[in-house]
Amino acid sequence: MSNFEIIQSRDKEYVANTYGRFPVAMVSGKNATCYDADGKEYVDLTSGIGVNSLGFCDDGWIKAVTGQLSKLQHISNLYYTEPCGKLAEMLCQRTGMKKVFFANGGAEANEGAIKCARKYSFDKYGAGRSKIVTLRNSFHGRTVTTLSATGQDVFHNYFFPFTEGFEFAEPNDIADLKEKSAGACAVMLELIQGEGGVLPIAKEYVKEAEKFCKENDLLLIIDEVQTGVGRTGSLYCFEQYGIAPDIVTSAKGIGGGLPLAAILFGEKTEYVLKAGDHATTFGGNPIACAGGVEVISRLDESFLGEVAKKGEYIRERVRAMPHVRGITGLGLMLGIELDDDIKAADVVKKGIQNGVLLLTAKTKVRLLPPLTITYPELDRALEAIGKTLTNM
Ligand SMILES: *Cc1c(COP(=O)(O)O)cnc(C)c1O
Repeated sequence: MSNFEIIQSRDKEYVANTYGRFPVAMVSGKNATCYDADGKEYVDLTSGIGVNSLGFCDDGWIKAVTGQLSKLQHISNLYYTEPCGKLAEMLCQRTGMKKVFFANGGAEANEGAIKCARKYSFDKYGAGRSKIVTLRNSFHGRTVTTLSATGQDVFHNYFFPFTEGFEFAEPNDIADLKEKSAGACAVMLELIQGEGGVLPIAKEYVKEAEKFCKENDLLLIIDEVQTGVGRTGSLYCFEQYGIAPDIVTSAKGIGGGLPLAAILFGEKTEYVLKAGDHATTFGGNPIACAGGVEVISRLDESFLGEVAKKGEYIRERVRAMPHVRGITGLGLMLGIELDDDIKAADVVKKGIQNGVLLLTAKTKVRLLPPLTITYPELDRALEAIGKTLTNM
């Protein structure tokens, strides 16, 4: 048996079969380059679904994480630790938000945001004003409540009864949002629907939604689990929309590869959740936060400018490739729209054979490379994508 076959057969027997894995086992990597169990090299345009923002095994990140690891790995939120407060301070100073709650993943961050919105309204208006409007085709997570918040019927199956109190508005249709908002306490949306197909929501619509929310004291929750932490060329995507959300959720890229998520609270929401209202055992783990401090401190203006430039570089080259109808997205969150007869999943499979790791999002090929990807790595990836599409 090959190294891969040994790893695969054990996994198939003992790991719950909830994932359709590709027939590859990864063992090591540096920046956007990684190696499988039999030594084959790949360029990674997935960053572990937007998680490894500084790529594989970044030197500064390893130093930050292992430095904390050899001091104190965990103590619980009953005590103070330095990395948690440092990261919260950086996030608030960079975004203008006021307070941070740390969680472990995107769904958990969104759950906390939902709880905060409902409590804000309960405290001020009493029971009943609990509905949250989200958008059709959105994705907000896999817990029972965040599945309920997800505006795609395919996710509303098997696990009944789902959490009540969610209604879905048509993206970019402000009249529909206003109509669906009767009796609501919040509007929650992604600025670029990621899992839904890398679909940016129109700026004018988001601005109008913000205005409508302010006028009616609905909280505006922006799910930046995928778009946040430099992914779109600004620290958070909402900056490019020129809005001031009441709550922002962040996860995927924030820990640089360790499980970490954050709920950012604005002026209206910073004191809503009080001692005992919300908690999590692992949230704010000092190792994960030390990694987060390194990630955020690296994402200065010049770094973010590079993210935008690399995105343009990819766009220009991919646009000229066969079977490409268009490219959507922002910065290094890109969706390649293909000819109708080309299946995105087939492109990803063939890409692996040609040494490039890609993602899908609905009918598109999705790219979420590490933000630190170098131009030589990009060129290798683009060559492999070109070869893959030419042979489809
Ligand atoms: C990935 C994602 C989530 C869920 O995050 P998990 O860490 O998998 O729970 C929620 N919202 C958006 C926009 C996402 O992209």
